Amino acid sequence: GGFFDRLRWRDGRLSAPRRIVHAVNGVSLSIGRGEVLGIVGESGCGKSTLAKTVIKLHQPTGGRIVLDGEDITGHDFARMRPIRSKMQMIFQDPYASLNPRQRVCDIVMEPFLENAPGKVRDAKDRALALLAKVGLGPEHADRYPHQFSGGQRQRIGIARALSVEPELIIADEPVSALDVSIQAQILNLMMDLKDEMNFSYLFITHDLSVVRHISDRIGVMYLGFMVETGSTEAIFDTPKHPYTRALLAAAPVLGAPLAAAAEEIRGEVPSAFHLPSGCCFRTRCPLAFDRCAAERPVLRQQGDGQAVACHLHDATAIAPTLEANA
Ligand code: SF4
Ligand code: MG
Repeated sequence: GGFFDRLRWRDGRLSAPRRIVHAVNGVSLSIGRGEVLGIVGESGCGKSTLAKTVIKLHQPTGGRIVLDGEDITGHDFARMRPIRSKMQMIFQDPYASLNPRQRVCDIVMEPFLENAPGKVRDAKDRALALLAKVGLGPEHADRYPHQFSGGQRQRIGIARALSVEPELIIADEPVSALDVSIQAQILNLMMDLKDEMNFSYLFITHDLSVVRHISDRIGVMYLGFMVETGSTEAIFDTPKHPYTRALLAAAPVLGAPLAAAAEEIRGEVPSAFHLPSGCCFRTRCPLAFDRCAAERPVLRQQGDGQAVACHLHDATAIAPTLEANA
């Protein structure tokens, strides 16, 4: 498989470990070909930073990024170029990333022309075909971004992302700025395109109903830490981390936004610059005990691919093994 088959979560950090780590790594969570990994958490929990770290718009503050056995942590732009071309990003506000002076057709055909300079007719045909795929007819091709609605602009952003035939699309709150009726259309389009073209999504959202609807697996983040990972069924049917449980308990109705749910959890979110000692959730956790202040819990396998970073779920002690291989 492609290198995205080997992207793993380990100790709350994303990496694609060498095979030896894969063999011992009971807590790993991979993004398989054609799969959707949903990342959920309150705003400010580090979801967007995570996405930018994966795609290398940010240097990681800790850990490494290893893709297909190659450590790319220190790679410069030129060395990242072929790797980055397999990943594309879709943003909450596509308008910010669309050149306002470029016609839509030119925006989408740019990657085709880069690969085959001079073949303008061919590039334009392919761009029109992609625009048709996202529901924009040829009558839209010569218009400029400001002439489109928010939902249409997101369709343009999707078409442009697809023009490089990516293996992974990182979608950072791609529908949260849209009307609810438009959200469903765009989500369905994104899922249809994935099924047809067989790429993967790292899908970042604060919306529990969205993440449940689209994800094969889910990672729950709090203050920059992955606190629980698992299949969508496991996360919703048997949530184990006190934070995950609080989120779900506070939002029993599908469609309830996570931000509202999070207000139900007691206490303030600590500053990411002044993290609590030990467990990052302990200042708000109703179940905190002595060990929680003394020791930071790491993700531990619970069976069935579910992993939890909480001392209450410390049945196996495999963390030292993981550290040794990190
Ligand atoms: Fe709560 Fe302790 Fe578990 Fe953290 S480690 S979630 S404070 S019980
Ligand atoms: Mg964000």
